[in-house]
Amino acid sequence: MLYNSTQNASEVVSAAQAIAQGISKDGGLFVPQEFPKYDEATFQALLKQDYKGRAKKVFSDFLTDFTAEEIDECVEKAYTAAKFGGENPAPMAYTQLGDTKLNILELWHGPTCAFKDMALQILPHLLTKSLKKTYDGKDAVILVATSGDTGKAALEGFKDVDHTKIIVFYPVDGVSPMQKHQMNTQEGNNVTVCAIKGNFDDAQTGVKKIFTTPEIAEKLAENNMLFSSANSINWGRLLPQIVYYISAYCDMVNDGKIAFGDKINVVVPTGNFGNILASYYASLMGLPVAKFICASNANNVLTDFINTGVYDKNRHFYTTMSPSMDILVSSNLERLLYKLAGNSDTTTHEWMTALKTIGKYEVSDEVKAVIHDKFFGGFCDDEKTQDTIRRLFRQEGYLCDTHTAVAVNVYEQYVEKTGDTTPSIIASTASPYKFSKSVLEAVAPDSVLPETEFDMVDMLNDVTHMPVPAPLAGLKGKTARFSDVTEVDAMPKYVLSALNIE
Ligand SMILES: *Cc1c(COP(=O)(O)O)cnc(C)c1O
Repeated sequence: MLYNSTQNASEVVSAAQAIAQGISKDGGLFVPQEFPKYDEATFQALLKQDYKGRAKKVFSDFLTDFTAEEIDECVEKAYTAAKFGGENPAPMAYTQLGDTKLNILELWHGPTCAFKDMALQILPHLLTKSLKKTYDGKDAVILVATSGDTGKAALEGFKDVDHTKIIVFYPVDGVSPMQKHQMNTQEGNNVTVCAIKGNFDDAQTGVKKIFTTPEIAEKLAENNMLFSSANSINWGRLLPQIVYYISAYCDMVNDGKIAFGDKINVVVPTGNFGNILASYYASLMGLPVAKFICASNANNVLTDFINTGVYDKNRHFYTTMSPSMDILVSSNLERLLYKLAGNSDTTTHEWMTALKTIGKYEVSDEVKAVIHDKFFGGFCDDEKTQDTIRRLFRQEGYLCDTHTAVAVNVYEQYVEKTGDTTPSIIASTASPYKFSKSVLEAVAPDSVLPETEFDMVDMLNDVTHMPVPAPLAGLKGKTARFSDVTEVDAMPKYVLSALNIE
């Protein structure tokens, strides 16, 4: 299987090249030229397999330049019970809110307690194999822009991985205290963490610019290095995310929650549009998804886009209690638009150029029609987020984080508006303990909160009796290794200096 750039169809690469490079030279994103189609017999076979078996099947159909042994090794090393707290790294939890049934896909049982681990525990294995196949002898420099969770998950995945170095940029005031502490205490000899004076979009734009600046690429090449990405612009990030939608469907059939062949909806708390895009890709392979419900926080640029077909990032940027969704430029929307525009690189290039220059574009009527048919967009503010956490905990004893709560709230809005009761999978993207303050305020609104992050963790544990994930508990008392803060404009210089190649 080969991959194209969304902005230049003549750029054709193998899977290994797409993963090693991360982003196309023209600034476009790599997409598969076609999607494998799973028939009934294939799904029947997947029903009988465990998560790893399902992952191996999906990987083998997309990574056709990898051997079966290589894929086996990647999957076995990534999804161990030790790292994910059980045999199924992505288990379902079934609960409800009022009359609304909630089928919650818990994606946060990995080492950094966010769904990013599902992809970032396997990406380093895929990347080192891809480097061998395509750029033997070169070291990969992984540049990451993070709204909080990708950074830590990438650091943890890549720490001390041979032939890689990783540099993470996060918005100085845009992540939770736990997220910041997780990153700044990161161990490993090949890791660098730096805050930027700007928001996530600034970090992401800065990183993309560094990737596509020829002089910087040359400097790296002279030193036997090349850039790669651990953001969801990298195909190696998206592919592992397709697996858990297929696996969740199989689990729901096996659990008797749906019958084989039944349609489902998916509900995804969305930032960069990677997670929801993975569910859309799963549907292209045959997963029977009726509706994609895209949940946003107050940064509701995607809600407006889905409702009007106009993407306009020229708006106020809100810092919310679901910081991993505080994004106004959703990178992976580019991949959806490419597909919906009939794989047109010129149309995609036009829209993305407009986004870059005037911050706005409007899609064609045909694309609007498909989006209207398949997607529902909704959003909720911080107050409703906390109200949702509170109701779900008080009524059902189920504790969720702020991002998941946005999804639950938007799903309730969807059901109320449409009356559609199609069984729906709700992606739960983080442990509530990554956002203890906001979650505590929700479930214990009349309490006086302690001052330090870890006292809040303990108090949340007292109030809810939900176990604190070991990786977070283990950070208590750990001193920070990193404290750098840089201007956005100085990011290129920072990178060269961190690599010692100024
Ligand atoms: C990254 C993240 C999201 C957003 O996912 P995208 O793939 O960027 O849309 C939602 N919730 C949490 C907790 C995250 O870390």
